[in-house]
Amino acid sequence: MRVTLAARIKIKKSAPARGAGKPDGHRSAARLAGEPRPADLLAWYDRHRRILPWRAPAGRRADPYHVWLSEIMLQQTTVKAVGPYYAKFLARWPDIAALAAAPLDDVLKAWAGLGYYARARNLHACARAVVERHGGKIPRTEAGLRELPGIGPYTAAAIAAIAFDAPASPVDGNIERVIARLFALEQPLPAVKPEIAKLARALTPAQRAGDFAQAMMDLGATICTPKRPACALCPWRENCAAFRRGDAETFPRRVAKREGDLRRGAAFVVCSADGHILLRTRPARGLLGGMTEVPTTQWSKDFVVSEAVQGAPHFPSLRKPVVWRKTASVVRHVFTHFPLELNVFMSEVPAGAAAPKGMRWIKISELDGEALPSLMRKVIAHALPANRSR
Ligand code: SF4
Repeated sequence: MRVTLAARIKIKKSAPARGAGKPDGHRSAARLAGEPRPADLLAWYDRHRRILPWRAPAGRRADPYHVWLSEIMLQQTTVKAVGPYYAKFLARWPDIAALAAAPLDDVLKAWAGLGYYARARNLHACARAVVERHGGKIPRTEAGLRELPGIGPYTAAAIAAIAFDAPASPVDGNIERVIARLFALEQPLPAVKPEIAKLARALTPAQRAGDFAQAMMDLGATICTPKRPACALCPWRENCAAFRRGDAETFPRRVAKREGDLRRGAAFVVCSADGHILLRTRPARGLLGGMTEVPTTQWSKDFVVSEAVQGAPHFPSLRKPVVWRKTASVVRHVFTHFPLELNVFMSEVPAGAAAPKGMRWIKISELDGEALPSLMRKVIAHALPANRSR
């Protein structure tokens, strides 16, 4: 592998430099042609590592449960957003056996607001699988980890490296960016991913693989950032092909992404005169599976707002038909594959009205305890005055 890495760097050395920000003339080509050395990055990490709640102090091995929990939470979510959720989960379920014994609904409720709810269901299923199949011990190998629910190649490599110091090479978006820049890889994402994975493996040292993985993550998150990378502070700037060319910010290359078509629909916020709101639970499988929502129409590309109330909940027990008021603006939300616009309709019904089939009344003051995704929190906040929605 080292031969491959060195060969790659030699190829990049011969590539013509272009653009602004080229290194000074005294920086020799011979130095630039050197391989990025893991030791340089580890020395930087020893001085500048981020303090994170799930990270063990220097020289200590992290608790595998802490590593696993944080890695699942961090999938598609920022460190800042995860912090309070991580603390809440750890306080409530201090070990994997406690989490496995918890009802799924409690886990979903505690997860509400963190997004991508399939992760919460997989987290719970994974905790149960670890208890049932492995006696409560998280497997130490990437292969063993990948057999568990919710653990893909990246998460398996991250847990194996960080929790067990196995020579694994997790590659997330930050690490992809660092490697694409180090080697000025011209092939765009996602086709370049196998090449990046190969180079990441070649760089990973046999000793301190866990620290090296975290150092790569820290470098990508704090120095080799998507915009305006702080190359002057980078321990690998002498070995970085993109820095040499002066166009680091243009890596990794990407093909233009086509956004999904806009879907539209209506949401119905129904309150009772005695301070309840009408809710239902989404089907267990699919988008926002098992989460709580206010009733809505289908979300479609050809939604017609003038026909929206045909999809509103019916209250056969009431003598008078329900009067719907539409809010002036819509609620917008972007899912991974499509943007959504919801028109919000409101109504108030008398206290004691029977909830339509499949729906239930919940006290507005108890909404915080519901597993409401952020989309539904937005809808409810949009419809109800601040003092009523909490
Ligand atoms: Fe990233 Fe700049 Fe370091 Fe290259 S020198 S790895 S572009 S921060």
